[in-house]
Amino acid sequence: MIHAKAVQENPNLFVFLPIIYTVWSDAILTPRETAILQQLIQSQDWITVKEKEFLQTQLDPSSPPTPDDFKEWLTEIRKVIGPETEPRQSLIDIGIRLAKSHDGGKMTDTLTRAQQSLQPLEDSLGLVSTEALYHFYPENRKSITQQYGTQRTFDVDLLAGILDGNQAATIQKVKTLLADPAFRYIDTDNLSEYREKVLQWCRLLAHQGYGAMAYPKEFGGGGDMAAYFTIMETLSYHDLSLVVKFGVQFGLFGMSIYFLGTEKHHKKYLKDIGTLELPGCFAMTETGHGSNVRGIETTATYNHGSRSFIIHTPVPQAQKEYIGNAAVHGQMATVFAKLIVEGKDYGVSAFLVPLRDKTGSLLPGVSIEDCGRKMGLNGVDNGKIVFNNVPVPYDNMLDRFSTVTEQGTFTSSIASDNRRFFTMLGTLVGGRIGIPRSGLSASKSGLTIAIRYGDKRKQFGPEGASEVPILNYRTHQRRLMPLLANTYAIHFALRHLTDRFLSRTEEQMQEIEALAAGLKAFATWNTTHTLQECREACGGKGYLSENRIDRLKNDSEIYTTFEGDNTVLLQLVAKSRLTEFKQEFSNMNVFGLLNYVADQAKTSLTEMNPLIVRNTDDEHLLNAEFHLNALRYRERDILTSAAKRLKRHIDSGMDSFDAFNVVQHHLVEVGLAYVHRIVLEQFQHQVEQTKDSGCQAILRKLCQLYALNQMDINKGWYLENGYMEGVKTKAIRKLVNQLCWEIRQEAVPLVNAFKIPDTCLAAPIAV
Ligand SMILES: Cc1cc2nc3c(=O)[nH]c(=O)nc-3n(C[C@H](O)[C@H](O)[C@H](O)COP(=O)(O)OP(=O)(O)OC[C@H]3O[C@@H](n4cnc5c(N)ncnc54)[C@H](O)[C@@H]3O)c2cc1C
Repeated sequence: MIHAKAVQENPNLFVFLPIIYTVWSDAILTPRETAILQQLIQSQDWITVKEKEFLQTQLDPSSPPTPDDFKEWLTEIRKVIGPETEPRQSLIDIGIRLAKSHDGGKMTDTLTRAQQSLQPLEDSLGLVSTEALYHFYPENRKSITQQYGTQRTFDVDLLAGILDGNQAATIQKVKTLLADPAFRYIDTDNLSEYREKVLQWCRLLAHQGYGAMAYPKEFGGGGDMAAYFTIMETLSYHDLSLVVKFGVQFGLFGMSIYFLGTEKHHKKYLKDIGTLELPGCFAMTETGHGSNVRGIETTATYNHGSRSFIIHTPVPQAQKEYIGNAAVHGQMATVFAKLIVEGKDYGVSAFLVPLRDKTGSLLPGVSIEDCGRKMGLNGVDNGKIVFNNVPVPYDNMLDRFSTVTEQGTFTSSIASDNRRFFTMLGTLVGGRIGIPRSGLSASKSGLTIAIRYGDKRKQFGPEGASEVPILNYRTHQRRLMPLLANTYAIHFALRHLTDRFLSRTEEQMQEIEALAAGLKAFATWNTTHTLQECREACGGKGYLSENRIDRLKNDSEIYTTFEGDNTVLLQLVAKSRLTEFKQEFSNMNVFGLLNYVADQAKTSLTEMNPLIVRNTDDEHLLNAEFHLNALRYRERDILTSAAKRLKRHIDSGMDSFDAFNVVQHHLVEVGLAYVHRIVLEQFQHQVEQTKDSGCQAILRKLCQLYALNQMDINKGWYLENGYMEGVKTKAIRKLVNQLCWEIRQEAVPLVNAFKIPDTCLAAPIAV
């Protein structure tokens, strides 16, 4: 167009150049655009018929401009465009400038007419024309999205210190050890090579005293259970097969003897287990029964004549399955079996059953099959075990809660089979602390990789300007920042759970078990979700094994199932909450009940009044008390309504098993709402405890994001129940986006505060 005869003769036709450039800018001239333009050109009385015909040729969909034409047009337009700081011009303004620059300003009158008659065209192009203006500005201009980047308002070392707490020394020791070349990752598809390497790593850890860390000092241990959990968590920056093998040997196997056995067992076995002299297994699950442990069918039949127990797999479904350490290395197992004494079934007890001799050969009556390759954790040798009337001596019964007397009769300090069973399982709660803490480290690794990558990886950008880091995109922030906030939140909640477990009293056990079950479910689901987002956030690079997310994802996937399936665990949490709720009610005297009703009414008056349910002030929405009240209200309301529904069903004659099934979905929400509230409480507590103002400010922001994101996720519930109106849930969503935008600036320092050793992270994209 620029060099066409018509334009040379009448430079005023340059007025059309920005418009024609704009309508062609998406390479397609739609019928609507063509029609509008044609009509407008026809209605101009300041151009000749020939010139009109020429302009029509520029709008022929079958003859688009060449890329070179297009580039030339843009160069021409940019010659006359002012700096971006000038007030925004319209397409017509730019066209007039162009025409003037070619015509020397001779035909001012014509141009004034042109400006008036073309204005409706600009209006009808609407957004297209506004958008087009961005294209015209010279290169290297910066948009807000582009200018945005990493900054830091807090001291990373101080924040790392807050995360490590009183375990900093142990964490440092483990990290130093993991940096040793002996712990270098191996890249192999060979199962046995990988399994041997993991065993070798476990031996190195045992040699440092880490395996026995939790056992009492008199049995060769470190007497430090807190350090044991910290070791598990820190090792989880490394290979998760190592962590699980370590957990099976020193945690599940060793702790089952420590908690379910008595002194004779501690003396005889703990030292050898801690040094890995005696590799062992924890054999509870059967092919037929996983979540329902009480249904297991393996039997341990007492033989008074030989003072022994006969361990037997009566049906194929009773084979032990998925048992870690069983396929190759295990020499002994804690086997859960139904104790039969004099033909009577006394429920599940635990027995130590030798599997292999020192040379690794299976012992008589024991058959083991390898579970083979799995979705992850392939450095752990899981196996299926079948027992064919294997005798074990009397002393091999782990007899802390029940035993068989000299006279050959069953005896227990806990009369009820039910209570005994749950007391026994309750002692094994440690696994439900170790696994979420391990998953937390995997989330931290994934987030460190994805956030560092997102800060550097650039895609797209304003027209003509350089590309923008993907972490500057709002959706990218929305995907990763709430998960970063969750990870910090869960960190402090799991520390609280560990502290409660370590200082537990008998009466608190039930509550701590529920807390562990709930946090295990929430935290491990969060890990799975986080790693999936991190994988996608790194695009194709996230899929490459060299960047580790694949391993972390595949290995931690099963965390949602073992140590208790998450859905099943949340039902246990709900049942425990219902029991507490019932007790709270039945313990209340008349005044207590009146106070409760008054409290509820007060909540309704203060939080549910029309001003509050519509309050969209930032000050209110960012207020910690509002956050806690909202999560508490939801927790309480869901619990009360679940209790009412259950009661209604049972009162109407429904079997209680059926009634629980009818409200099962509701129960899972009871469990989750409880955990969400606890996690918030602990996070808020941590914020209040933090002395350094920089760290406190960033933790507060993360805590606000955690709380508001929970409300945003559950906004349907808040709307259904009239706790919020639409204006408020919209304002919350906006604030979540705003917090994501603000936290993005600190995201790299925030993941740096995890201080994951480079040798563990080992992802080229995270350098
Ligand atoms: C890699 C790996 C390692 C393992 N290591 C060991 C080990 O060392 N020792 C050991 O003893 N075990 C081990 N396990 C077994 C593990 O603990 C069980 O897989 C787990 O307890 C779940 O049991 P299940 O697989 O039989 O699933 P199931 O109990 O059959 O559950 C299957 C599905 O049904 C659902 N479901 C079950 N019951 C209910 C219900 N009441 N209401 C609603 N939904 C329900 C669950 O949510 C789940 O989604 C391991 C498993 C794996 C995969």
